Amino acid sequence: MMAAGRAGELGRSVLLLEKNKELGVKLLMTGKDRCNVTHYTEDINSLIEAYGKNGRFLYSSFARFGNLKVMEFFESRGVKLKVERGQRVFPVSDSSGDIRNALINFLTEGRVEVRTGTVVKSLKSNVESWQIEGDDLQLKIEEVVLNNGEHIKAKRFIVTTGGLSYPATGSTGDGYDWARELGHNVIEPRPALSPIVLDDWFVEDLEGLSLRNVELSIWDNQGKKVDAKFGEMLFTKRGISGPVVLDLSKKVGELLEFSAGEVVPRGGATKEGRERWDLEERGQKRNRVDLKIDLKPALDFAKLDRRIQRDFQEGNNKQFKNILDKLLPKKMIPVVIKLTKINPEKQVNLVTKEERKRLVRALKEFPLHAESLVGFGKAIITTGGIDLKEVDSKTMQSRLVNNLYFAGEVLDLDGPTGGYNLQVAWSTGYAAGNDLMKN
Ligand SMILES: Cc1cc2nc3c(=O)[nH]c(=O)nc-3n(C[C@H](O)[C@H](O)[C@H](O)COP(=O)(O)OP(=O)(O)OC[C@H]3O[C@@H](n4cnc5c(N)ncnc54)[C@H](O)[C@@H]3O)c2cc1C
Repeated sequence: MMAAGRAGELGRSVLLLEKNKELGVKLLMTGKDRCNVTHYTEDINSLIEAYGKNGRFLYSSFARFGNLKVMEFFESRGVKLKVERGQRVFPVSDSSGDIRNALINFLTEGRVEVRTGTVVKSLKSNVESWQIEGDDLQLKIEEVVLNNGEHIKAKRFIVTTGGLSYPATGSTGDGYDWARELGHNVIEPRPALSPIVLDDWFVEDLEGLSLRNVELSIWDNQGKKVDAKFGEMLFTKRGISGPVVLDLSKKVGELLEFSAGEVVPRGGATKEGRERWDLEERGQKRNRVDLKIDLKPALDFAKLDRRIQRDFQEGNNKQFKNILDKLLPKKMIPVVIKLTKINPEKQVNLVTKEERKRLVRALKEFPLHAESLVGFGKAIITTGGIDLKEVDSKTMQSRLVNNLYFAGEVLDLDGPTGGYNLQVAWSTGYAAGNDLMKN
């Protein structure tokens, strides 16, 4: 919508083809229907760092149409915005519908013709696919072919088909297939910002428990801390979810067997790749990755030990199981008792130093074992996508196909939660639409 709107604003004749019956189905779901539009910061470098090594690709499009311009864009169209905790920007109305309406108005102003319920089947180039490996052929798209057999010609084509996450919203990875057929490399799409499935006996006991102000960390098989995030998380039926979990999930996914940046061979492996990752359906077991929750990140081991000793002194005659409610949410108490192997009936003044240390450890390093990511069905974003080396970062133009552009999640770009991913869609979409200015 941003790409089409910008091209329309520049006076181009634009046709927007959308598979769904309405525009912006995923957009409406964002930020729990409130739409975390972008991330507020005045420091473009810190913004870009959040995207990891591929973030550099974004310098140019962020410089032209970055987070502050995006805020201006929506505010100037009557959508008042607010900045919440973690610099997350939302509409004051808390309604993602307002963001979508602003974009629809943008399309109308730019006289963009919109055809919903229209599925693009393929892109037809001037060169047969068997010739594509040839060196000096000037590849061009001539038309798109729709599912109903209709052909539509155009001068330029922008592919913004999204990733593979939440495929029910229409993002079924079609753009990856088209790109491969045209000779583009596609970095293997994998789920990111995904809930994590755990292989721990207590998961169902903790279902529904939400934790605030905790630190979740990832450990490699050498016992080294790989990454950690502080914030909120929650237990689900099969594992964990919530902001810190989603933000660590990409790393967990990498450690669960596959190495990062695996490149899918041209023209192949699409379906296989998807199946490999659709763990929800396959219920396939993988390596386990060690995670730990620090339930008391404000206290180090010694301070927490002193605090527990104090609690024990104050409740001298109490049984161990009855003293933990000051330290832990109720649901966790039986689990922690089992983990510490301390007799729940034991009087606290009889708890040994060794036992107390085990309790401190259970609170500072509550152990979890990641078995898999939930998969594309519930991943907020797809990592991987069109190889950035083959796309011009200023214009989003393909380096292989003269009149083809890519924007949004279909590119090999992904950020953490907090408005970063829509920002990619706004900036790269704007850049692609903007380039249609040239003849
Ligand atoms: C539940 C959820 C919450 C999220 N919350 C946030 C948030 O608060 N903030 C944030 O920054 N990010 C959020 N994200 C991520 C963000 O929504 C995406 O990164 C963003 O929508 C990507 O935009 P896009 O236009 O590239 O792709 P999409 O929004 O996926 O749009 C792609 C469109 O292409 C259409 N399409 C695909 N194939 C075809 C075809 N063959 N023919 C015709 N049309 C086709 C699809 O129907 C779809 O409408 C969230 C994601 C999810 C799933």
